[in-house]
Amino acid sequence: MPAYESFGRTVPPARRVISAEEAIASLKSGEAGKGAMLAYGNGRSYGDSCQNGNGAIADMRPMNRILAFDPGSGVVEAEAGILLSEIIAHAAPFGFFPAVVPGTQFVTLGGAIANDVHGKNHHRRGTFGCHVEAFSLLRSDGRVHHCSPEYNAGLFSATIGGMGLTGIILSASIRLMRVASLDVEETVTPFGSLAEFFEIAEAADAGNEYAVAWIDQLAAGKGAGRGLLMTGNHSNYGARSAAAAGANISVPFQPPLNVLNRPFLKAFNAAYRWKKGKARAPHVTGYQGFFFPLDGVRDWNRLYGPNGLFQHQSVVPEAAARQAVPELLAAALKAGQGSFLTVLKRFGATRSPGLLSFPRPGYTLTLDFPNRGTATLKLLERLDAITIEAGGAVNPYKDARMGADVFAASFPDWLMLEAARDPAFISDFWVRTAMRLQSSEAGAAQAAE
Ligand SMILES: Cc1cc2nc3c(=O)[nH]c(=O)nc-3n(C[C@H](O)[C@H](O)[C@H](O)COP(=O)(O)OP(=O)(O)OC[C@H]3O[C@@H](n4cnc5c(N)ncnc54)[C@H](O)[C@@H]3O)c2cc1C
Repeated sequence: MPAYESFGRTVPPARRVISAEEAIASLKSGEAGKGAMLAYGNGRSYGDSCQNGNGAIADMRPMNRILAFDPGSGVVEAEAGILLSEIIAHAAPFGFFPAVVPGTQFVTLGGAIANDVHGKNHHRRGTFGCHVEAFSLLRSDGRVHHCSPEYNAGLFSATIGGMGLTGIILSASIRLMRVASLDVEETVTPFGSLAEFFEIAEAADAGNEYAVAWIDQLAAGKGAGRGLLMTGNHSNYGARSAAAAGANISVPFQPPLNVLNRPFLKAFNAAYRWKKGKARAPHVTGYQGFFFPLDGVRDWNRLYGPNGLFQHQSVVPEAAARQAVPELLAAALKAGQGSFLTVLKRFGATRSPGLLSFPRPGYTLTLDFPNRGTATLKLLERLDAITIEAGGAVNPYKDARMGADVFAASFPDWLMLEAARDPAFISDFWVRTAMRLQSSEAGAAQAAE
């Protein structure tokens, strides 16, 4: 991926980049100005939550050393710019794996904490933040704040899921999970409709470490809502060391248009359903293919064409899901937009220590759309409306365009993060949502006086 973009490529890449050292020196001197900076991990957020167009972003990736590892407990302490792939490679031979991994291993430790990422086992392990023991946070008061659930608990909680707004995480200690092997014994269960999926989802969670469903989003009529449920547990007989974490193939240049168009997706979905659906008996699958299927193709986001892609991730409460999820899928179908990756998953009840964490009990649906301008934006607004009406939330770190009202409805406690925000830190997302809310609230208060 070219440097300093966001993954969706719908927002401008950073104009001003400073090194981690420069950022640290400026913070320690106490001279960092308002909104001067934002830490940048590996740019795997889809929109503008990792960008700071009015200031600079600080590239944290060179800060990537492992500082300590206890092979007895699986607690690893590392600098925040380390990639999860590097942590996996270090810990695997000792029988440990991160308790929570997102769909790519190319995210930094700092980025995983700041967005409080989730994985296919949210029902068992909660979010990434549930496994953070402590971290060091540098703020513009020039001090390094050591934070844990017991010490500086307020900053600890505001930083987990705090989207980089509370300061720079320099290093962190996380508890890894003991596993028999990295690989996964997977079972694929086809379902013919969403109703069928909802019948089996809870039991699938109860019986497995991992559970996630793929939906054939373009299927209409009798096939609407069909898909495959993938469940799995770490296998006793798989790999005990990490495979090379790199792409086997790449998209070497930017195609002039979206390659993942509707006819392609129809054919792809049919082939995927047929191929995956054949493997119904439990089978051992490599961990990289199970957890990080898209990491094998470098720069695959280029396939969406020069205008980039929008991802929409919603979560709706369990009681509303049977109505809201089909409605979300029907809205996309009606708009004639094909989603390449359509993933449905049940979130469990484990609470995150994070103040503004996205996951909450219910069902989360993720859709990816090529950016077709106004038509796509209108569809995304419709998806927002369905989500909010159902009492749900839209994921901010996948977002590049949600309205401030949608953000406020999704995160009614946003003012608590604003209170903990370090004045030297801001993101384009925060300017677009929270700052707008604040100025309209201030305006309304003034008008009332
Ligand atoms: C293919 C793919 C699959 C994905 N699957 C999932 C998934 O299953 N679940 C999920 O939750 N997410 C998923 N994501 C999103 C991704 O996991 C998150 O956006 C992740 O936080 C990105 O981390 P990053 O290191 O690239 O950070 P960036 O995207 O660069 O930054 C993310 C945030 O972290 C902050 N930050 C980074 N480093 C620091 C630091 N040292 N100190 C303070 N703040 C910091 C930034 O300011 C920013 O707000 C996926 C993304 C892709 C591309």
